[in-house]
Amino acid sequence: MAILARNLFIFFLFTLFAGGCYLVWTIEHRLPERTYTEFLYCLSHHDISDMTFTGNRVVVSHRAGETSTNPGFTYVTTVPKPEELIAELQDKNIRIVFNKDRSEIILQGLALLYVILLILVIVLSLGRMKREEKESKFATDKLILPDDGHKIVTFKDVAGIPEALEELQEIVAFLKNPAQFNQVGATIPKGVLLQGPPGTGKTLLARAIAGESGVPFYSFSGSDFVEMFVGVGASRVRDLFKEAKKNAPCIVFIDEIDAVGGSRSGGASASGSDERSQTLNALLVEMDGFGTSDNIIVIAATNRPDILDSALRRPGRFDRQVNILPPDVKGRQQILHVHAAKIKLAPDLDLDQIAQMCPGFTGAELANLVNEAALMAARGNKQSVDLTDFELARDRIMMGVERKGMIMTEQDRTILAYHEAGHAIIAKSLPDADPLHKITIIPRGRALGQTQQLALFDRHAYSYLYLKNRITILMGGRAAEDIAFKQRSTGAQGDILQATEIATNMICKWGMNEAMGPQAFIIDDSGFLGGSSQRLPMADETARTIDREIKILLTTCYEDAVAILSQKFYLLKNLAGILIQTETLDNEEFDIILACSEKKKAEDNISDKNECISCPAAQSCIHSKIKKSTPCIL
Ligand code: ADP
Ligand code: ZN
Repeated sequence: MAILARNLFIFFLFTLFAGGCYLVWTIEHRLPERTYTEFLYCLSHHDISDMTFTGNRVVVSHRAGETSTNPGFTYVTTVPKPEELIAELQDKNIRIVFNKDRSEIILQGLALLYVILLILVIVLSLGRMKREEKESKFATDKLILPDDGHKIVTFKDVAGIPEALEELQEIVAFLKNPAQFNQVGATIPKGVLLQGPPGTGKTLLARAIAGESGVPFYSFSGSDFVEMFVGVGASRVRDLFKEAKKNAPCIVFIDEIDAVGGSRSGGASASGSDERSQTLNALLVEMDGFGTSDNIIVIAATNRPDILDSALRRPGRFDRQVNILPPDVKGRQQILHVHAAKIKLAPDLDLDQIAQMCPGFTGAELANLVNEAALMAARGNKQSVDLTDFELARDRIMMGVERKGMIMTEQDRTILAYHEAGHAIIAKSLPDADPLHKITIIPRGRALGQTQQLALFDRHAYSYLYLKNRITILMGGRAAEDIAFKQRSTGAQGDILQATEIATNMICKWGMNEAMGPQAFIIDDSGFLGGSSQRLPMADETARTIDREIKILLTTCYEDAVAILSQKFYLLKNLAGILIQTETLDNEEFDIILACSEKKKAEDNISDKNECISCPAAQSCIHSKIKKSTPCIL
C-alpha cells in the first residue's frame, strides 16, 4: 500500500507544481483588462486598428499615433453581444478576427488527460506492489524450506573429529527426546558455534546432527541475509524463526555467520554495515526470545571467530563453542576410510600410509584427494586406485598442476636445478629436519621448482633447532646459485620471504633470542586463515635491536648453508646434473646419488668432479626415470 500512497502523493505534488507554473506564466503574460465602458469610450475617441474575438472576450489593439507620446496599446475586454457591434466596427474600418472559442475543449481535454494519468499511476503502482510481494514471498519461501540433504548424513560420515562429536552428542540426545530434558528442568544451549578453518567439516557436522536426530534442518549462509536494502535481512531472520518455531524441534544452521555477526565496533556507518547490524540485532532478539521449551537449536559456523561480535557469545546465545581443527594423522586415516569406501582401491593399498603422506590436510582436502586419485586411475584405464594415483593426486593438490607448456631456457633450467639441489642437500645434511620427499624442477602452480619435505608425524610445537634448520634449508637455494654461478637470481624470492617470516617470529613472538629475551614484540590478529601481525609499540632502540637480531639470524643461516654446500660441492654438481635430465627425484634416488658421489669422491679424492652421471647406480635411476616420464629432454 505504501507504494501506491507514495506514488499518488508524488503525482498530486507534480500537478500542483504544474498548475502553479501555469498560473505564474499567465499572470506574467496577461494583457491589461478594461471595462466595457472604457472600451466604448475608446471606440468613439481613439484609433482602434484590430479586434480579435474569442467568444465574448475581445483583444483590442490601438494603432500607434504619429507622435512618440502615443505608442499603440492592447488590452482585453468583455463584450456582451459582439454581433451588435459589427456594423459600427465595419464603419470605422477596424480589422475583425473571429477565433473559435476553444478554451472549453482544452479544459475538457486537460481534465481527461489528468484522469488517465491518475489511473495509470494507480495501475502501475498496484502491479509493482504485487510483483514485490511475490518476490519477497519467493525469497522467504526459498529460505525457510528445510534442507533435505541431511537425510543421508549421519555421524558415521563424520570422521577424525571425535572431540567435537562427543560435545555434540548431548544436543542430539536433546533433539531426539526434548521432553526428557524439559522434565527435569535441564537447559540445553540454544546456540552452538562451530569454529575452525575452512574444509574441516563444520557444515557436515551440523547436517549430521540433524540427520542423527531426525529433525528438520534449516540451512543458509550469513551472506543470504546481507541485502541491498536495510531491513530485508532482519525481516528474513524473523520469518525464519517464525517458521522454525512452527516445526520445532529443529535445527537452524547459519554458515559463515561472520557475514552478519562481524564485530560492530568498527564504527563505519555505511548502509551495508547498518543492514548487517540490524540483521544481527534481529538474530539476537530472536535467540533471546525463544525459550528452551521451543526446542530450536541454532548452529552457526565461522572460520573467523576473531572478528565475531562479542554479543553473540553471551549466555543464552551461542554459549557453546566447539573448535574444529584439521585432523591429526589418525583422524586423516579415518576420514580417508570414510571417503575411500566410495571408490575401488587396489588390494595392497595402505590408507594409513597415505594419511601420513598428507600432513595438514583438512577433511575437504582429503575428500578431494580421494576423488583426484580415482580420476587419475580412471584416466590411466586402471581397474582400481593404487598408491601412485594417490601420490600424483597429492602432488597435484599440494603443488598445483604441472605447467608442461612452460618453456625455459637451458640456462634457467640449470640454475633452477642447482637451486633445488641446494635445498635438498641441506635438508638431508641437517639433523632434526623433516625427511626429503621430492625434488622437482618441473614448474607447478606458481613455483618454478620445489624441494619437498614430509613430516613423519604432525608437529604441534617447533624447537629452536628445527626452526633454524628450516631457515638454513630455505637459504640453500640461493647459496647454491651463489656458489655455482657467483650470481643471484629472483628465484629465491619466496624462500627469502619465508625465512624472514620465521626469523621474525622466532625473535618477536616466540622469545627465542638471547638479546631480546622472552618477550613478545608482535601480536597476531589473525583467525584460522592466517593474517597480518602487528608490531607492538616499542622504543626506537628496541626496534633497531630487533632488526639487527633478525639480520644476524638470517645471515648466520645463509653462511651455514654456504658452508655446507661448499663442502659438498661435488654432490651439488652431480645432483644438479642428474636433476636436469630426470626433472624429478625422490628420496631413494637422492640416496643412491649421494652414496655414489661419496664413493667417487673417496676413490678419486677429487672434490668437484661430475662423475656420477656415469656411475651405474645413478645411471639406472636416470634411465628408470626417463622411461617413466615421457616428455624427455635427453
Ligand atoms: P566447512 O563447512 O568446515 O568449510 P564442509 O563441512 O563443507 O567444511 O566440508 C566439505 C567436505 O569435506 C564435506 O562435504 C566432506 O565431504 C569433507 N569433510 C570435511 N571434514 C570431514 C570429516 N571430518 N569427515 C569426513 N568428511 C569430511
Ligand atoms: Zn627455493
